[in-house]
Amino acid sequence: MNRISHWVNNKVVAGTSGKTGKVFNPATGKQESEVDLANIADVDAVVAAAKAAFPAWRATNLSRRAEIMFRVRELIDANRKEIASLLTQEHGKVPSDALGEVARGLENIEFACGVPALLKGGYSEQASTGVDVYSIRQPLGVVAGITPFNFPAMVPMWMFANAIMCGNTFVLKPSEKDPSASMFVADLLRQAGLPDGVYNVLHGDKVSVDRLLEHPDVAALSFVGSTPIAKYVYETGTKNGKRVQALGGAKNHMLVLPDADLEMAADAAVSAAYGSAGERCMAVSVVLAVDTVADALVEKIKSRVPNIKVGAGSDPASEMGPLISREHRDKVASYVTNAAKEGAKVVLDGTDKAKDEGFFLNPSLIDHVKPGMKCYDEEIFGPVLTVMRVKSYDEGLKAINDNQFGNGTAIFTRDGGVARQFQYEVNVGMVGVNVPIPVPVSYYSFGGWKASLFGDQHMYGPDGINFFTRGKVVTSRWPDPRTSQVDLGFPQNR
Ligand code: NAD
Repeated sequence: MNRISHWVNNKVVAGTSGKTGKVFNPATGKQESEVDLANIADVDAVVAAAKAAFPAWRATNLSRRAEIMFRVRELIDANRKEIASLLTQEHGKVPSDALGEVARGLENIEFACGVPALLKGGYSEQASTGVDVYSIRQPLGVVAGITPFNFPAMVPMWMFANAIMCGNTFVLKPSEKDPSASMFVADLLRQAGLPDGVYNVLHGDKVSVDRLLEHPDVAALSFVGSTPIAKYVYETGTKNGKRVQALGGAKNHMLVLPDADLEMAADAAVSAAYGSAGERCMAVSVVLAVDTVADALVEKIKSRVPNIKVGAGSDPASEMGPLISREHRDKVASYVTNAAKEGAKVVLDGTDKAKDEGFFLNPSLIDHVKPGMKCYDEEIFGPVLTVMRVKSYDEGLKAINDNQFGNGTAIFTRDGGVARQFQYEVNVGMVGVNVPIPVPVSYYSFGGWKASLFGDQHMYGPDGINFFTRGKVVTSRWPDPRTSQVDLGFPQNR
């Protein structure tokens, strides 16, 4: 059995807990690897390595840091297929989707190559007579990233590239369900010349997360995962005096107005709902269809679904792969099974596919959902698209703003004025106008509102730089005999 262990000081290091987790190939349903699950001593050893590496890394000049990050960029680019194939093996996503994940992650590495330009700070000459004031941004120390199963390559890249370029040392705690991509990337960072201890990978479950949350040498935690755990990580980490950003779950609504291009809207809904088997925090899970076009839109979506090729990522024809685990597949299927009992109309039931060995479902489509139904109220995180009918733009907007989540949303319309009004009044962090999955490019920042994010700073881009640094302001005067005098009054600008 393949064994996956921790990555410390640029080497694979076996854990000492004797506890392991199972890693499956979701397309076959078979266990392929076991992964070490850290105990407290393992966590402490990884954090100690990162702490020891911090002073020298912080002192490494910006040109040298950027030179290494450029090499990381070249190595990841050259190994796109290898990384994508690990994603397919352990997560199940099909190659086109896995390659897309690597490409979007790579954007963040490219952004990070330019971080020196963002660490410039400000300078005010002669703020007072002979006195200059300037601001600088400094790294925090050891920072940790805790990541979910659904983007095992991209989400760590959201975090570590900026964290490291800002001068921090980094401990990644990836999902224990698909841990291999982070190990492969760790070795690329080593090949690029990153010194020992600057990037470390710690495998584990709640035990390791809890230790990171209380460890006195961890300055900040960046988390992405489900809402209950995001809330827990935010509350526990901040209680322990740490800086925390914790991104949670989602229920993304796509509002389709009567003037929309319905063919385009149907293509978008199908792509955004069933891509990656719906296991994306930016997946569209609810279509809000204005009554007058709802029947036509549902019909267009329904007619497209049978063309989706569901199958293993090893088959180049597959467009939608399996779900991450047997338990998750069964939970997703239960939303479809319950929907009819709750009064919704199951237009397409994909749960038959659950009989396969792998963790597959076919796409499901549920019409006439309403608040109060489980399939509407909860995040499903699977290939299930629900449709709620609304009378008007206002009713659609209200549904989105009343929802507990606020990660992504989209409006489909030809009316620029309404689209602008929507962008202005919707309480969601990332908005698409005729774009169903509006994941911001790397030089903006990614983050939801409401129960989709705990903390003040969004992920990556300019917010990422703020998160991984802290500001310092220096007020400076050089000795000048002409201005020197004793003065016990409060310092004023003169
Ligand atoms: P998860 O919350 O179960 O796990 C995320 C991380 O937390 C993992 O590393 C896991 O080991 C750890 N963890 C799990 N249970 C824990 C506990 N009780 N205490 C401490 N740590 C714990 O999430 P997941 O199932 O891996 O990922 C899917 C979820 O992530 C979905 O809800 C999805 O919407 C969300 N997600 C959000 C974003 C975003 O940007 N907002 C992006 C991707 C995924």
